[in-house]
Amino acid sequence: MYKNLRVVPHLVFGRGSFNQLGDILAGHRTDAGSHMVFLVDEVHEHRPLMKRIPIHANDLVILVSVEHEPKTKYVDELTQRIREYSNRQPDGIIGIGGGTTMDLAKAVSLMLTNPGSAVDYQGWDLIKYPGIYHVGIPTISGTGAEISRTTVLTGPTKKLGINSDYTPFDQIILDADLIQGVSKDQWFYTGMDTYIHNAEALCGTYINTFAKAYALESLELCRDVYLKDDPDADEKLMVASYFGGMSIAYSQVGVCHALSYGLSFLLGVHHGVGNCIVFDQLDDYYPEYVAEFREMVRKHGIHIPKGITREVDAAGMEKMVDVALGLAPLWENALGKDWKTIMTRDKVRALYERM
Ligand code: NAD
Ligand code: ZN
Repeated sequence: MYKNLRVVPHLVFGRGSFNQLGDILAGHRTDAGSHMVFLVDEVHEHRPLMKRIPIHANDLVILVSVEHEPKTKYVDELTQRIREYSNRQPDGIIGIGGGTTMDLAKAVSLMLTNPGSAVDYQGWDLIKYPGIYHVGIPTISGTGAEISRTTVLTGPTKKLGINSDYTPFDQIILDADLIQGVSKDQWFYTGMDTYIHNAEALCGTYINTFAKAYALESLELCRDVYLKDDPDADEKLMVASYFGGMSIAYSQVGVCHALSYGLSFLLGVHHGVGNCIVFDQLDDYYPEYVAEFREMVRKHGIHIPKGITREVDAAGMEKMVDVALGLAPLWENALGKDWKTIMTRDKVRALYERM
């Protein structure tokens, strides 16, 4: 059976395209009494972008915390806050920020129309009803969250996304002007997410012509951004993120993401930097890509943290191993159907001990 991939139906690309948001939303405002909800990364609170958001009188603007990656509890709190704001459903949820903010917007859109807690929907195709119309506007590039059919959430027992055909945005706006102002380390860590998506897709057993085409182009764009001094770097990174996301949507990620999820679950390490910490140890699995990654690290003088698992006790280590090995499709993609005989607990532990 081949995957019947649902993709984002509406996309605007170009510098300054954020200015079209008002017109786009106008078509979705039902009447004078209705409202939109904007979830905006708190980093923008005092930045000029805030004043450019087309806010109408009834609209609700929530500055979201990105200190921690999205938790199911936070999604439930935001959903509750939106319910308390009005007894009407909003006309739309607009997420403006990075992967954290975009994932929060997707999750809240779904939880407003599906009963219970976000915890109940961590998994595949558990969502029953379409969410509220939702729009994603990245202000940092690399995760591919703008295109994916998942919203990655950390719950009480697992880090697992709400994967469904209702999850992808109805509209995205890709405006490279918005990704200015990101700190250099963060620009690198989040951008490497897409580089690693491509490497894992291309080296995986799930690769196919469709996913490969996206990954190869995304990889070239990443090289322009991180190995050359390209004047169009911001636009290229934005497209690389989207293409990398499309590639893994029709293939899968691999060893790095599986291990990175374990780090993130136990230690709260953020996705981008976590991937970099892990990838730096994966010479045995992605040798050419790891070498090229290190070249990029050197060129930009980026600090990749070391020794972060030094203080982890035996129980913590076993938990990380459990989380990582729980991600069966990632391992199967990376190592084939016999992955369980190849990737033993001892091997996973040994890799973690080096990080
Ligand atoms: P992020 O959204 O946490 O943002 C990283 C940092 O950059 C934050 O401090 C943020 O405030 C700051 N930032 C954002 N825009 C800025 C701007 N224009 N100027 C200055 N600072 C800015 O990080 P991320 O790497 O984009 O996203 C990571 C999250 O995405 C994780 O939760 C991860 O699980 C998730 N993710 C989701 C998918 C998916 O398909 N849904 C894929 C990969 C990762
Ligand atoms: Zn990723």
